[in-house]
Amino acid sequence: MIQVGLRVDVDTLRGTRIGVPNLLQLFEERGIAASFFFSVGPDNMGRHLWRLLRPTFLFKMLRTRAASLYGWEILLRGLFWPGPDIGRRCAELIRSASQAGHEIGLHAWDHQRWQSKVAGMTQHDLQQEMELGHQRLCELIGREPDCAAAPGWRMTNSALELRERFPYRYGSDCRGTGIFRPVIGNRTLTQPQIPSTLPTYDEMVGPKCSPADYYQAVLERVKPDVLNVLTVHAEVEGIVARDLFAQFLQQASQRDLHFVPLGRLLGNEPATDTAEVIRQSIPGRDGWLAVQNSQEQAK
Ligand SMILES: [Zn+2]
Repeated sequence: MIQVGLRVDVDTLRGTRIGVPNLLQLFEERGIAASFFFSVGPDNMGRHLWRLLRPTFLFKMLRTRAASLYGWEILLRGLFWPGPDIGRRCAELIRSASQAGHEIGLHAWDHQRWQSKVAGMTQHDLQQEMELGHQRLCELIGREPDCAAAPGWRMTNSALELRERFPYRYGSDCRGTGIFRPVIGNRTLTQPQIPSTLPTYDEMVGPKCSPADYYQAVLERVKPDVLNVLTVHAEVEGIVARDLFAQFLQQASQRDLHFVPLGRLLGNEPATDTAEVIRQSIPGRDGWLAVQNSQEQAK
């Protein structure tokens, strides 16, 4: 039996409203518990893109780098009124994910703002985004969230330091290979990181990789005796790739893969590995991501 941490990122109102109930149903049918990371403030991200563009077109656009050619700012301009408040509109759905026994984490207050601006945000702004999201998610689920995962794996050292003030068991803010505690200067943080280890759908699917190929590739990349963490998106696996994802879960169980919430991968003892979190680019994704610096890993 191989354990695979299963993380669901929810970025948009549409993903919350349609993708989340689809995934909750799928997980219930298969007896799977996962970690859901919710965006709980304004949706300034998906509304127009997802409504105007067919998802296949969106992915093609991402692959052909139209986003970097024109810039997200321009693609997203035209939002002349504030985006809808996801937490208020989908309170019941978010609560139901918690009541179904899934781990619940904070993804974002404003996903689009964090993803595009985090590197230049002041401590005050960072703290405000985190506080707003934390308070709202507490109200929604009637308890403190278990964990947090920064939008787009965009995490800075300043934000990691602020994160220590929140009562989370862990953060899942970077790509990497093993559970570790971040090192900043000569300080080691207490909250462990559980990195994503496997590529996402939108990073691989394109002219040379069909959606079916992608899920096959994921099955082949899962290995025994290492950390395996798969991130899926409510907007993708809960909507456009729903049937393929259901098939993937079926095939995974035939291979004796067992999906668990990320927190289940933490040992009883605090993580002993430490590493710096650095910025890197990875294939299929524009811009930088936070990555576990494996050179720095020490026992
Ligand atoms: Zn996200």
